[in-house]
Order: sequence, then C-alpha cells, then structure tokens
Amino acid sequence: MAKIIDGKALAAQVKARCAAGAQGLARRPGLAVILVGDDPASRVYVSGKERDCAECGFLSFEHKLPADTTERELLTLIDRLNGDGAVDGILVQLPLPAHLNEEKVLNAISPDKDVDCFHPVNVGKMVTGQPVFLPCTPAGVMEMLRAYEIPVAGRHCVVLGRSNIVGKPMATLLLAQSGTVTICHSKTPDLAEFTRQADILVSAVGRTGLVTADMVKEGAVVIDVAMNRNAEGKLCGDVDFAAVEKKASYITPVPGGVGPMTRAMLMENLLTAAKHHQGQ
Ligand code: NAP
Repeated sequence: MAKIIDGKALAAQVKARCAAGAQGLARRPGLAVILVGDDPASRVYVSGKERDCAECGFLSFEHKLPADTTERELLTLIDRLNGDGAVDGILVQLPLPAHLNEEKVLNAISPDKDVDCFHPVNVGKMVTGQPVFLPCTPAGVMEMLRAYEIPVAGRHCVVLGRSNIVGKPMATLLLAQSGTVTICHSKTPDLAEFTRQADILVSAVGRTGLVTADMVKEGAVVIDVAMNRNAEGKLCGDVDFAAVEKKASYITPVPGGVGPMTRAMLMENLLTAAKHHQGQ
C-alpha cells in the first residue's frame, strides 16, 4: 500500500516558513491579483490566494475588472502595478476573456514581479539553471519529493502533459535534479509503454481515469497534478487512486495533494520577490 503524500500538511509547513521568513522585512510582501470578468472558478481561486496571503501575514490587493475591459486598460493597470513599490508580485488570474491576448498581457508583467513564473525571461532562467522564481505547480511537486526524501537523480521520471504551466516546467525541474525524463502528450501512441517504465510518474493531463493500475510499475511514485470533475461533480485527478494506491510506493491524493502545494509555492515566490525588492 502506498504512503500518501499529504500536500495539505506540507503546504501548511511551507506557509508557516513563509510567515516566519517575512518577519524581518521592513515592509510586508504584497500581491496584486487581477481578475477580469466573473468566472466563478476563477473567483474561488482568487479568494484562496488572498486567504493564503492573510495566513502568511502578506498583503493582497485585488483588482476586479469587468469582462469587457480592453487590452489597453489591462496593460495600463499592469504598468502601474509594475511601478508600485507596495506590490512585490502581480498575478493575472487565467483564463482571460477571449478578446484579451493572454501572451501579451503576461509578458507585460515585470519579470521581477512575475510570481507565477510565466514570463519568458523567468522561464529562460529556469531552463538554464539560474532561477529567480519557479512555476508554482511543478515547484510544489519538487517540494513534495524533497520533503518525503524521494530521490530523483538517475531515476526514470515520466511526465504526462507538456503544457507551459505544468508539463514542460515539471520535466525541466526533474531534469535539473538529474532525473532521466520522458515527456508524453496527446500524440504519444502507447502511453502505457512509457508509464510502466516510470520510477516517478507525474500526470498532468486533465482526464479522469487516464492512469490505471496496469500502467504503473510496482513501487513507483505517482504524482497526480490534475484537477478534474468526475461524473458526480467530485474533484478528482487523472489517476485511478483506489487501484494505483495498492501498487505505488507513494501517491498524492486529489484533493489534498498538489493543489495546496501550488498555492503555498506562490507564497514562497512572493516572499522571494519581496526580499529582492527590499535588497535582501
Ligand atoms: P493543458 O494545457 O490542457 O495540457 C494538457 C496536456 O495533456 C497537453 O500537453 C496534452 O497534449 C496532454 N494530453 C491530452 N490528452 C492526453 C492523452 N490522452 N495522453 C497523454 N497526454 C495527453 O492542461 P494543464 O494546464 O497543463 O493542466 C493539466 C491538468 O492539471 C488539469 O487537470 C488542470 O486542472 C490541472 N492543474 C492542476 C494544478 C494544481 O495546482 N494542482 C495547476 C495547474 C493545472 P498536447 O500538448 O499534445 O495537446
């Protein structure tokens, strides 16, 4: 039976570390959160991030804009926040309404306030091994592996999914820890051929029931990044948890796994930014 990697408990530890880390700062770390439109899921994510800030003793500044906000208006706000000394991090909640160019908007955030690590400058720094910020979800997974003393070096890490937010940076961070990394995606003809070889399997696809027990090697570490809704509307991952739990050595639950860690790592990035802005 696999050991459960408790993301919720670990996230609480990371946040406590962030709160302690901010104690010596002259000014409290500040996060500007921009929400365009009224998407209910985005609303929930934004309030979660604001709660995390409060828990760490950080400030959050919410900018709620109407769905018909123009690109110019949004870029003007980002420009103002880039120059605002009370703001250490700027977060634009995705997805944006269709008429706004996501790439253009994200690239307008100053790299030193890019706490999501989406800006090409920060992505480039991560890939070349000189990171300032790390993208929150893959960084959360690495923190889980570290906390549970799961070695990465020399092990075969198979990542399912190649998005800019999860799959690609996940593979980059595992490689940086000397894992032997395979990336699979929708054009991979036989997924099981690769997953069965995985010592560490990370699934970030978004399909309930994608990873079944027969696809997992005995004793593998299984990390489920996905946040899907099953037929009953319950939050679940890509992995058939009940069956895979019997085969894996470690496994993350959904909910209570990677999700809380993602939020905690955002707080860590905000603290990093605040220290940088205060010359520490
Ligand atoms: P995404 O942009 O839709 O990317 C999904 C990836 O899965 C793509 O690379 C796609 O391949 C690949 N894929 C699709 N079908 C596949 C299949 N049958 N076999 C293998 N690969 C397949 O999604 P994302 O933003 O990376 O998010 C992935 C999941 O993680 C979602 O469930 C999302 O909700 C969740 N998520 C969770 C957190 C968290 O905090 N826990 C954070 C972010 C995302 P192609 O590139 O070929 O299309």
